[in-house]
Amino acid sequence: MRLSSVAVADFRNVRSVHIEPGERFNLLHGLNGQGKTNLLEAIYLLGSPRSFRTSRLPELVRHGERQAQIQGTVDSGGVENSLRLVIEAAGRKVEIDGKAVHKASELHGKLNAVVFSPDDTGMVRMGPESRRRYLDRTVYMGDIGYLHCWHSYQRILKQRNHLLKTPDRTGLDIWTERLAETGAEVIERRLRFVAVLDGKLQKYYATIAGGAETSRLSYHPDGVRSTDREQIRGELLELFDRQLRSDERYGTTTAGPHRDDLTFLLDDRPLKPFGSQGQQKSFVLALKMAEMDNLHDTFGEAPLLLLDDMSSELDARRNQNLMEFLTTREIQVFITTTERSPALLAAAPHCAVFHVEDGNLTFEGS
Ligand code: ATP
Ligand code: MG
Repeated sequence: MRLSSVAVADFRNVRSVHIEPGERFNLLHGLNGQGKTNLLEAIYLLGSPRSFRTSRLPELVRHGERQAQIQGTVDSGGVENSLRLVIEAAGRKVEIDGKAVHKASELHGKLNAVVFSPDDTGMVRMGPESRRRYLDRTVYMGDIGYLHCWHSYQRILKQRNHLLKTPDRTGLDIWTERLAETGAEVIERRLRFVAVLDGKLQKYYATIAGGAETSRLSYHPDGVRSTDREQIRGELLELFDRQLRSDERYGTTTAGPHRDDLTFLLDDRPLKPFGSQGQQKSFVLALKMAEMDNLHDTFGEAPLLLLDDMSSELDARRNQNLMEFLTTREIQVFITTTERSPALLAAAPHCAVFHVEDGNLTFEGS
């Protein structure tokens, strides 16, 4: 996929910017707080229902303005699509080729992008919610059916939790059965995704870190051992049954896929307490590469790669390993850095260079 043009207006600190990015490498450099990440965020938002930084829409609109607009032309498999996004405090509107779209699923796959930002490594150290959010977002990107079952699960969970808070529990059995049924689909799709990603992770970790450690990604849903949906459903029913007393006591569903975690391992040891900072960064970057590869397999085309604040994230050797990998692939890459690094420019052939200052963008050549 290629983003051949992008126009951003009144988005965060960007008043009005229009660029025609290079087909391969694009470097956005500028001092802190000038709008580099904002521009990556705008590009990401064109193809995704949620920002990688916030879920609060008003933050995205330039102070003092009513709406932000992002427009982009995407070339995918020889077909051009024009995507337009209008963001207001109350909601967002999406148009594809001038036609309004109402369901998130219609935008699915129109502009795939993988982001790697400094915040991502936090995923290793933080609580399970951040990994679960990552899991849900990435499964959805390559599997459109996931969104539907995930939403159903959330809806049913809410109903069941509501019942658990009331003295009259009529109908609890029915909601529990529904929860097990949709929960089984959520788990089955997650398991399928993790198995694929785990296989790719190992390879990319070696590419980036060049080390001898083995990296692994694993997902062991609470109370579940099978991989077959019907059997998972049975196991979930047993789990909900075992937990019933504590569910009633706490007035909420205390176990199930909404509580599951994703485990990162290095040489079969958990990455969080035992991995060094560099190892943790490499791990997350390898995970992103695996994600890109998976999207490439699924859509027959590589997604965009948005590398935020790259120099602060990786040391010179890892940087070089990454650049070597990227130059062998047909990927459109957007890199932000605070310096117009000569090493980076030497590694990235035909790099289009842009300077970012106070929300403005100047093309400096390629
Ligand atoms: P760094 O190198 O530190 O990561 P950056 O160039 O990536 O910097 P951004 O995060 O893109 O910086 O931009 C930050 C700037 O955008 C800040 O000055 C912030 O005040 C401004 N900003 C964020 N949201 C809005 C908004 N809604 N309206 C106006 N300005 C905003
Ligand atoms: Mg930034």
